Amino acid sequence: MRVELPDFRLGSVLATSFTGTLSERHGEPVERIPTPQRLIDWLAVYGLAVDSCTTAQLELARELREAIHAAATAAASRDPLPGSAVQVINDRSVQGRAAAVLTPEGERRWRLSSASRVEDALGVIAADAISIISGERDGRLALCASPTCRAAFFDTSQSRTRRWCDMNTCGNRQKKARLKAKQRAYNSFHNEVGSLR
Ligand SMILES: [Zn+2]
Repeated sequence: MRVELPDFRLGSVLATSFTGTLSERHGEPVERIPTPQRLIDWLAVYGLAVDSCTTAQLELARELREAIHAAATAAASRDPLPGSAVQVINDRSVQGRAAAVLTPEGERRWRLSSASRVEDALGVIAADAISIISGERDGRLALCASPTCRAAFFDTSQSRTRRWCDMNTCGNRQKKARLKAKQRAYNSFHNEVGSLR
């Protein structure tokens, strides 16, 4: 039997796309990297291909993901960063041995020290998280306006007024909910008018 696995939500920012592999944290959480193979798939999308992943490495990845989520949420809320989260991010960053290399076409590629080094890929993600949480990169950390999501995302829009972590899911759902509420108000108004006749 083939089990349907949840799709990835792909964003342009590595660290917050990674935290997005667990979505609806304040609703019914959806785990998008439930197996080592799904982590392998996800890493490949972001140019961090590994050829194997153990359950222990998946655990390490999830620990880093929740640490980034906690630290990014605190930073977006202007709260002090949780010490344990900072520790995990730093440990992953320090232990990663990936190198950035420039291709002849002028693109950046990541070279891992070995194809089974998930830790190297996690190091790249941790460093990316550090660059956005520290405020080094041009953009603003914010929390998704969806009450069941509240994911931290990195807003790089000109106006810095983005409200949702993902337009196609959270943004769309919110829009639909608003439309439905409007429709309900309209219907109840017309029912009232109808009963007055
Ligand atoms: Zn969201």
